[in-house]
Amino acid sequence: MSTASLTQQVPISTNTKLDEILNLFDAQFKNKANIRSTTAKERISKLRKLRNLVIEKRSEIAKAIYDDFRKPEVEAEYSEIVPVVVQLNHAIRNLSDWMKPEEVDTPLIFFGSSSKVVFEPKGNTLIITPWNYPFQLSLCAVISAVAAGNTVILKPSEFTPNTSAYLKKILAEVFPENEVAVVQGDYTVSNELLKIKFDHIHFTGSPAVGKIIMRAASEFLTPVTLELGGKSPAIIDETANVKAAAMKLTWGKFLNKGQTCIAPDYVLIHESKHDEFIAKMRERIEQNFGSDPQKSADLGRMVNAKHYGRVKELLEDAVNNGAKVEAGGKVAEGENYISPTVLSNVPLKSKIMQEEIFGPLLPVIKYKTIDEALAYVNAGEKPLALYIFSDKSKNQNDILNRTTAGGTVINDNIVHVTQPYLPFGGVNNSGIGKSMGHYGFKEFSNERAVVKQLHSGSSMQLLYPPYKGYHKKLIDFMLKWLV
Ligand code: NAD
Repeated sequence: MSTASLTQQVPISTNTKLDEILNLFDAQFKNKANIRSTTAKERISKLRKLRNLVIEKRSEIAKAIYDDFRKPEVEAEYSEIVPVVVQLNHAIRNLSDWMKPEEVDTPLIFFGSSSKVVFEPKGNTLIITPWNYPFQLSLCAVISAVAAGNTVILKPSEFTPNTSAYLKKILAEVFPENEVAVVQGDYTVSNELLKIKFDHIHFTGSPAVGKIIMRAASEFLTPVTLELGGKSPAIIDETANVKAAAMKLTWGKFLNKGQTCIAPDYVLIHESKHDEFIAKMRERIEQNFGSDPQKSADLGRMVNAKHYGRVKELLEDAVNNGAKVEAGGKVAEGENYISPTVLSNVPLKSKIMQEEIFGPLLPVIKYKTIDEALAYVNAGEKPLALYIFSDKSKNQNDILNRTTAGGTVINDNIVHVTQPYLPFGGVNNSGIGKSMGHYGFKEFSNERAVVKQLHSGSSMQLLYPPYKGYHKKLIDFMLKWLV
């Protein structure tokens, strides 16, 4: 079942009216030129105000997220608030440099001219975000868009109405609505927004909805950034420190109840390490969440009954097809609870190995040779993330060189998303374009190529018609010496 169909069955928050949406867009359209001409100093001052507010209101923000799906306060602070402050500080420190035109070299053939790349705002932008990190994913995209000098209409997810309302409130304290506005609602509101001719669309969500967005954008040839999902493998080879791998994967997998786009979806492990890894995972789960994780205050819940039902079905299907529950496996319908679960002996044909899990289930698959493991990974869609646990650089490089992924962490998982100097994004089915930091700024900018002739003549005059015998000799010379 795709997340698109789930969304369509469960509209939750109140939809912003169509008239209001059109008025907002109209106001932003009229304000586009003003926002475009803002200086680095003006943009930085707004980003600073937003940063101070986010820090000051962190408890209120964490509460809104808790009210949506019981995300523990500490987890909300380090996975939703800290990354936003990291991105804000990074933009505040670097925006003046990012906005400067980039002088580029001039080959001999262009003698007498100079060239540069000018970063101009795309204009009126639309940002659509999901529910799983409702604050962080919305604000990080907004930060890049406003840093680059764009207006923004943000449509957060209908499944996290408290956070969406809070986003509207906090953004309104910094930006007038003709610069940044929040529009709330479900897929029907997205559909109305997609009928408008924006200059850029930044979408974070499932590949199924990503295709809907790209199709709609093609109507106006609007450029898109698609931050999508999929199955991100973790490979543990025969040299890895299994205890450390289990410690890190327990955190990365069960953070936010596995509802993380870059969560390790499944583990491929050398057969010699399989049993030790399973034992260490059991120990670590107990260490983090106690002997009955359902009672732990440090474990959130599935976002709603639909997503609970989808993940429960994946578990049942795997078990019915022969998977063994090594840890967890408990579910509780009324509270959308699924325990942190480790599965072995999982048939590759079962549903859990066919679709993104997006929940607290970790299939562990044994392999005999790395060739076999990589062939399995490469036969699937290109992942958003691929994690390598190995103590040998040679093995790490071999896996890097023979696979592709949006991002990779060696001997850890998920941490790359908060490294502000790195691009964040997927490849093909897991995403198009890059977000965060300088890469996010560039994604929301048009890189305009500018060549300036420094005098009234041009080196190209030598090639103007009427064509004579010497033209060919000139081209021979150019091919040999100038290009
Ligand atoms: P989703 O695709 O169902 O929804 C995302 C947004 O799209 C929401 O705002 C929703 O209202 C809207 N939407 C839903 N159906 C739509 C439709 N038919 N037409 C137009 N808009 C529609 O995703 P989700 O369930 O909220 O989030 C889970 C997915 O997002 C997972 O696949 C996960 O991997 C992915 N994700 C990716 C990243 C990333 O940075 N790459 C981050 C978080 C989540």
